[in-house]
Amino acid sequence: MHTDFIPAASAIVGSEALLTGLAALPYFKDWRGRYSGEAIAVVFPANTQQVSDIVKLCAAQQIAIVPQGGNTSLCGASVPLPEGRQIVLNLSLMNQIRAMDAINYTLTVEAGCKLASLYDAAEQANRLFPLGLTAIAPHCEIGGNLSTNAGGIGVLRYGSARDLVLGLEVVLPDGRIWNGLRSLRKDNTGYDLKQLFIGAEGTLGIITAAVLKLFPRPQATATACVAIASPEVAVRLLSNIRATCGQALSGFEIISRNCLDLVFKHIEDTQEPFKRKYDWYLLIKVDDVLQHSPEAMLRNGLLNFGGEVLTFDIANDVQKAEKWWKLRKNISEAQKREGISIKHDVAVPVSRAAEFITQASAALRGRFAGVRIVAFGHMGDGNIHYNASMPEVSENLVFIEQQEHQVNRIVYEVVARLGGTISAEHGLGQLKREAIKDYKAPLELELMRTIKQALDPQGLMNPGKVI
Ligand SMILES: Cc1cc2nc3c(=O)[nH]c(=O)nc-3n(C[C@H](O)[C@H](O)[C@H](O)COP(=O)(O)OP(=O)(O)OC[C@H]3O[C@@H](n4cnc5c(N)ncnc54)[C@H](O)[C@@H]3O)c2cc1C
Repeated sequence: MHTDFIPAASAIVGSEALLTGLAALPYFKDWRGRYSGEAIAVVFPANTQQVSDIVKLCAAQQIAIVPQGGNTSLCGASVPLPEGRQIVLNLSLMNQIRAMDAINYTLTVEAGCKLASLYDAAEQANRLFPLGLTAIAPHCEIGGNLSTNAGGIGVLRYGSARDLVLGLEVVLPDGRIWNGLRSLRKDNTGYDLKQLFIGAEGTLGIITAAVLKLFPRPQATATACVAIASPEVAVRLLSNIRATCGQALSGFEIISRNCLDLVFKHIEDTQEPFKRKYDWYLLIKVDDVLQHSPEAMLRNGLLNFGGEVLTFDIANDVQKAEKWWKLRKNISEAQKREGISIKHDVAVPVSRAAEFITQASAALRGRFAGVRIVAFGHMGDGNIHYNASMPEVSENLVFIEQQEHQVNRIVYEVVARLGGTISAEHGLGQLKREAIKDYKAPLELELMRTIKQALDPQGLMNPGKVI
């Protein structure tokens, strides 16, 4: 049935850059092992022209395209559907740094660059690329980060992926190449087209390269590990500490007791931060390029806040801070080892983050006795990862099969009441494609469909995702 595609595609990328059969299977399955599909082949273009030629071939043969980077999506966005005439277009071979302009504070890179390699490139030029997905940075790729508008630690200071881009190169669904690789900080010449492709999860075109913003590299850094009694205290402390530390505040993460118990169970060489156990912890990071002492800023901020801080400790050496950050970075991995759960990646206004945790937890506990809630995340920007499971791992398959819809409904209703969003940073993918219809205004959905129709009238770009 697809006999025409394989030889024609091989002629474009070379037969060694095209996988079928058993070798292709890992690319059809997502990181969580929740979604897997089928495709004619996985194709690995080496440059933008090859991407364009493959896209033209697909358009001519009515074959859909699933763009793929590091395949670390947590919502089934980067894998093919179970059926359909589609290919996976994996960008990993396009991993060149095209230009470093340290004076303009910009880095021009191809879509397949691993995020970790961009941290290194920036560091070599004494600059910082601040997109803080450190736990997954060796695996995810910048094309995927931009297509999901990734967030991570540091959004409260630097913004999410969307805020870190000056220009893009995109292959459109008809194969034409749009070269928007401008490195300008100001450009008011009409619609900001690049923003359409950022966060589109591969449904509008294929990002092949980007101009990224760099920042001065902090010269001093300190992390505080803080024990508190409740998320309400966290919200107030955040507001206070922002006033003390200003722009130097670059991370404010919340971790619940359940998260730490999972990390200690599954991740080697991890320890309690304090002698006794607490219900809630914060990791607060401050760094600065100036001569101010981040440690002094943090200490003043915490002491000024008074008795609601149960205890705290500050690390200004990297090894000690890394021990704490290891706890935070390994929560997802520990959860994965524990087994499946019902995951949420929600955001509410920062001032309402505690209300979200309290109200959603009360509602879930009222409906599902004994439910285990693993809550953690980027408190500094109102983004809470909020996962529910049964305490007995063996009960989870049935729990998810029978109750996922109900659990989602309870959580999303609280989110909606508080003016939040059901996807803060992971995107919609397949996972939330249906649910979003209930939580986005009909007019917004109509505008999204209009844009999709205008750019991809044949519906060949990542079908079954987002919209
Ligand atoms: C342990 C772990 C921790 C994580 N932590 C975070 C976190 O802190 N913050 C966060 O935001 N996310 C996080 N994620 C989610 C995930 O890593 C991000 O969404 C990441 O940006 C995806 O990058 P990727 O290269 O793996 O993209 P993929 O998963 O391959 O693709 C993601 C989406 O982008 C599309 N896509 C990929 N490349 C392109 C391209 N070049 N052009 C057009 N479309 C493309 C795909 O079709 C898909 O829709 C985490 C995931 C894991 C497993």
